[in-house]
Amino acid sequence: MSTSSQSAALKFEIVAKCSTTKARASILTLPHGPVSLPIFQPVATQASLKGLTPTQLAETGCNLCLNNTYHLGLKPGQETLEKVGGAHALQGWKGNILTDSGGFQMVSLLKLAKVTEEGVRFLSPHDGTPMLLTPEHSISLQNTIGSDIIMQLDDVIATTSPDAERMEEAMERSIRWLDRCIAAHKRPEKQNLFCIIQGGLDLEMRKVCCKEMAKRDTPGIAIGGLSGGEDKMSYCQVVSACTDLLPPNKPRYVMGVGYPEDLIVSIALGADMFDCVWPTRTARFGNAVTSTGTLNLRHASFANDTGPIDADCACTCCRPEEEGGLGITRAYIYHVASKETAGAHLLTMHNVHYLLSLMGKVRAAITEDRYPEFLRAYFRRAYGDMARVPTWALTALKEVGVDLLA
Ligand SMILES: [Zn+2]
Repeated sequence: MSTSSQSAALKFEIVAKCSTTKARASILTLPHGPVSLPIFQPVATQASLKGLTPTQLAETGCNLCLNNTYHLGLKPGQETLEKVGGAHALQGWKGNILTDSGGFQMVSLLKLAKVTEEGVRFLSPHDGTPMLLTPEHSISLQNTIGSDIIMQLDDVIATTSPDAERMEEAMERSIRWLDRCIAAHKRPEKQNLFCIIQGGLDLEMRKVCCKEMAKRDTPGIAIGGLSGGEDKMSYCQVVSACTDLLPPNKPRYVMGVGYPEDLIVSIALGADMFDCVWPTRTARFGNAVTSTGTLNLRHASFANDTGPIDADCACTCCRPEEEGGLGITRAYIYHVASKETAGAHLLTMHNVHYLLSLMGKVRAAITEDRYPEFLRAYFRRAYGDMARVPTWALTALKEVGVDLLA
């Protein structure tokens, strides 16, 4: 079975496979340079990662970030984007960009959004005029944005929806919309269209969708509709069922996932790419993601803590001044977190760096074929006693050959 693929604007090569789990390490080469997978992509809403300049973002080791088509389409709008030459030029960002289709934002942000076969109907948040986002319009916007990876418009409904008939309609409509997106895509030699597998928690529906979408031979594949409140046991079953069916020589992107333990378990199940607003959003509430869990630095217990945010972290905030860092202490974050943007800014930098650095450790472990040991060490550190590790993680890992309780 081939472990590499190439299309006009993308090259994907698997460099190592875990001999126990389904984890793989690979290189994804996009128009703005290579990206080592597995990777977490931070979300830069409104074309700027909240609190970080493009230089600071690049310093965290990030070479692929996510922009929201919906936000860019509203402001600055397609005409301006056309004039400035797309989102890379607008942001002064030299790395790769992935854009979503805009559909999910509409359905989740606009209460009056309604999905029909034509597209997503909604009222303009500016002046209330009726508007329609079609697969063709989404692709046209993303072609103007110039992102390296563009996503198909899909019909997303909550995985927890009990309406099986509507779920099937959404899955089938997503396949029809993929065909319309492929036909509308004007720049396949510069931009990579990814399909999105739908089907809720129904493994049979996911199977049909995987088969149909794999036939369309897009450069990459996303598993969508998850992280919508379903239980994690079901989440893992869907990811694992999809990775078993998808062609092995294409990148697999699980949308909307960002908790460290969700990432490392999903990687064991064969996923390569992730995104989530959580690490940057939670920074604005004073939360630091660390190797011993998430800490709320607004808590008074940190008022006199002169240690770094995370002693094991090499980000600009945590590195001591003599090593070229800022030597930021927990006490300083506590002091500024609730009243100044500086606290959120520093925590954003740390959180993004933390997740990217975690992905670097994951890649090294897969390449050296010690991913099962890495998983053991991670969970032991996070929970102390393995018996306290959540059942969903124990079960999912056991199914791919790693028994944390053994
Ligand atoms: Zn740090």
